[in-house]
Amino acid sequence: MMNDIERNDKEYVWHPFTQMQEWVAQPQMIIEAAEGIKLIDSDGNKYYDGVSSLWVNLHGHRHPTIDKAIIDQLGRVAHTTMLGLINVPASQLAEELMAVVPKGLTKLFYSDDGSTAVEIGIKMAYQYWQLKGATKKQKFVTLANAYHGDTVGTVSVGGIDLFHRIFASLLFESIQAPCPSCYHCKLSSDPKQCGMACIDEVEKILAENHGEIAAMIVEPLVQAAAGMLTQPKGYLKRLRELTEKYNVLFLVDEVATGFGRTGKMFACDQEDVSPDFMMVAKGITGGYLPLAATFMTDEIYNAFLGDYTQQRTFFHGHSYTGNPLCCAAGLANLQIFREEKVIAGLEAKIEAARIRLAAFTQLRHVGEVRQQGLMIGIELAENPAKRISFSWDMAIGAKVCKKTREYGLIIRPIGSVVVFMPPLSSTVAEIEHMLDIIYKSIQEVTETDQTQYDNQDVAAVLI
Ligand SMILES: *Cc1c(COP(=O)(O)O)cnc(C)c1O
Repeated sequence: MMNDIERNDKEYVWHPFTQMQEWVAQPQMIIEAAEGIKLIDSDGNKYYDGVSSLWVNLHGHRHPTIDKAIIDQLGRVAHTTMLGLINVPASQLAEELMAVVPKGLTKLFYSDDGSTAVEIGIKMAYQYWQLKGATKKQKFVTLANAYHGDTVGTVSVGGIDLFHRIFASLLFESIQAPCPSCYHCKLSSDPKQCGMACIDEVEKILAENHGEIAAMIVEPLVQAAAGMLTQPKGYLKRLRELTEKYNVLFLVDEVATGFGRTGKMFACDQEDVSPDFMMVAKGITGGYLPLAATFMTDEIYNAFLGDYTQQRTFFHGHSYTGNPLCCAAGLANLQIFREEKVIAGLEAKIEAARIRLAAFTQLRHVGEVRQQGLMIGIELAENPAKRISFSWDMAIGAKVCKKTREYGLIIRPIGSVVVFMPPLSSTVAEIEHMLDIIYKSIQEVTETDQTQYDNQDVAAVLI
């Protein structure tokens, strides 16, 4: 029976990344509350939040430290503008963030979400070269299958055909380098022996075009939205070396990987990389409120300095830039990292996941299992030995994720990749339990006759 909440949602609300014709035709789950890493629906059922509420939640829901920080800040002020005024939490958070980001990053610009943080990086990189007099350096290098957000600028540096193709004529031009995923490699017949052929392609692009290239932008270590595509060890570090060699700015999009997801505070830390720009968002408030930051070096910041008549100002800002409630949540997030020794506690969880995941490759329809810290993708395949994918319209990943709900776990697929990205606060036992549910669901769905499934019945979990 449909209640008012569901009826109103279906009457008025357009959901993100959702085919609404199918959404409104089926019963949908309403989340009313949450407790730790579990979500509670309107019937009182509890489900593991196995994708961290789309990659944002770190320490579970209703964590007392973050709850209290927001309530305390509410007792002072919810929002004041940063145009012409300082606010207390934004100043404090900036200082604390500087202590944890890669060395060399010394300034930050606040915004509201990953897309805006990337837009700011792109616009600043562009303006930097204009200010420097290198006015021909206007293009961006990006990776095939890249995802940097959904606004027009970030789609311009995106490479996911399904999302981005239709907007092609609306976008600025970017140069696409090959995707460094070994499983999907198109360059080498034996990626293990190729000596990173994909990086040679990047060097070729930079060598031939650096006079016109403003920057290269990458998702470090994992192209998450592309289906948790992991990169070869050393790839990120080589990119940094090449961008330096060819005088191209290096923008690292840590929106998904930042704040512990890969096992260290930032993915850059895994390869000791110090970029020119770093963008963070999703985890910055522990998954509570929308906030983002674009970090940059002194070299970038100083290039914009001058008196106002020179018009070197960065003319950009958002209504809620540096919102005090969000920054208070950000401060509480970092406090939890310190007090609960979150990073040190990750190793055992990552290892437990690795051991459980090893068994997945024995499943008949698992092509590749990818893991970087607690970012995990299980790619399903019709025929793993021959690398034959499931046909897209079978919605095989969506069927698996629908099945896991029956066992009390909410996750979302990307095509035929089952994505698992639990909150960092999940215990070893909880991670094992969630992976057991995924294992069982993959087995049940992929090893039974597909004709018994209704392909239209997966709107809630289909991309
Ligand atoms: C999610 C994501 C974005 C976009 O962030 P939003 O907050 O959804 O705008 C950008 N880059 C990466 C790598 C992401 O995963």
